[in-house]
Amino acid sequence: METLYRSTRETASHTMTSSQAVLQGLTPDGGLFVPFELPQANFDFDQLATMSYPEVAYEVLKLFFTDYTDAELHACIDAAYGDQFDDPAIVPVTKHGEQYYLELFHGPTIAFKDLALQILPHLMTTAAKKNHLDRDVVILTATSGDTGKAAMAGFADVEQTKIIVFYPKDGVSAIQKQQMVTQVGDNTYVVAINGNFDEAQTKVKELLNDSQLHAELANHQFQFSSANSINIGRLFPQVAYYVYAYAQLIHQGQIKNGASVNFSVPTGNFGDILAGYYAKQLGTPIHKLICASNRNNVLTDFFNTGTYDKNRQFYLTSSPSMDILVSSNLERLVFYLTGSDPVATKRLMTDLQTNGSYTISPAMRANLTDFWAGFVTEKQDQAAIHHLYDAHHYAIDPHTAVATAVADQYRQATRDERPMVIVSTASPYKFPHAVLTAITGAPVTVDGLSAVDQLHALIETPIPATVEALRTAPVRHKRVTDPAAMGTTIKSILNLN
Ligand SMILES: *Cc1c(COP(=O)(O)O)cnc(C)c1O
Repeated sequence: METLYRSTRETASHTMTSSQAVLQGLTPDGGLFVPFELPQANFDFDQLATMSYPEVAYEVLKLFFTDYTDAELHACIDAAYGDQFDDPAIVPVTKHGEQYYLELFHGPTIAFKDLALQILPHLMTTAAKKNHLDRDVVILTATSGDTGKAAMAGFADVEQTKIIVFYPKDGVSAIQKQQMVTQVGDNTYVVAINGNFDEAQTKVKELLNDSQLHAELANHQFQFSSANSINIGRLFPQVAYYVYAYAQLIHQGQIKNGASVNFSVPTGNFGDILAGYYAKQLGTPIHKLICASNRNNVLTDFFNTGTYDKNRQFYLTSSPSMDILVSSNLERLVFYLTGSDPVATKRLMTDLQTNGSYTISPAMRANLTDFWAGFVTEKQDQAAIHHLYDAHHYAIDPHTAVATAVADQYRQATRDERPMVIVSTASPYKFPHAVLTAITGAPVTVDGLSAVDQLHALIETPIPATVEALRTAPVRHKRVTDPAAMGTTIKSILNLN
């Protein structure tokens, strides 16, 4: 069965193949691509339990990327999930105390976005060849810290591509900033923004929809695409690790095939947890997907009240990749909640654009039973890091700690004792200052690589090679701009003037 794609906002008059949707990123009407019909999976989990991560990824990806040949898909998967991960399992599932940790931080940028962004460039360049595209693809990305770096790590020196990344100047960790400004690759461009992530993301979306800019690009043999988590080439590869994690629990003898489990997901743009939702739709026995937020708890309120309202204070927290007021991927869930009604979805998204808020109907709310939502304060986040380290000598980063703490809230509220998988989205070495502070309970005066060393002395887990490399990497990117000037910056980078 071929899986074709349509927009969340338009009555399905035209559909695209998966490779066309990968190239396009966003739909022409500003909506997001969703499969016209959900593929039929029929997973055999006893068999999946014997498979490696690349093998499971193939079983999942072939459902979504149906116009790629088997050979093309295998080539993309092999290029993405190999030696650049420092654990042979790629995404090991470990147990600490009573819960499981799905460690998604063993890739080149030590955060979960590598799982999607190591494969996206290959899906994209393969798509370009399949569709006889002779223009260079320009990737435009706003990042709250991890996306941009992970995207550049994936796209660096990939032929026929350029990548331009905007990040909030004061909204990322010291290590994240260092990773960003030292990025190698002649086709990579990094720009700091005098503003927050939402301003950068809103502007990027606007530019991606700017028809005049598109025309100027086309004149110079360029075409925009997006590496943000709205691209199906990022979203669907993430489904694979939910399927793999479930199969691994069987393989490790922790559960019987068919038993249902919960996943707690530290959530920002709603891409990761949405992949879990798809995994469930495809038949993975998931009971609840727990949407875990930090103080920027717009999603918690959405799930608990039915109103999404971004008109609220924005906080900078120790989990910056979740400091988000507009979760782009939520539009796809909203689309499903309406019963796949593009008119209703568009109306709600227009409300969001004009009023900054929308309220779903009682009928739509009744469809939210796959989810449970909660949020934590900074204090609770630190306590979660502290307690886990104290009890089990396992250090987690502040994002993973959000999921850990909200999973505890869930268990207390519901008494549900099903196995709980915490989706671990970053290495503690990515946020050494916050992790040290939480574990020691004392003020930490060092940051960056000195904090890495201090954390290493304490927890003794090996320092990832990519962090070691930062010690000597020269700064290559110094651009700073205002959100309003982002368009001009892009033109100057691409020499359009
Ligand atoms: C991006 C990110 C998240 C949030 O994931 P979404 O798909 O945006 O919800 C959580 N933790 C870390 C470390 C991240 O980089």
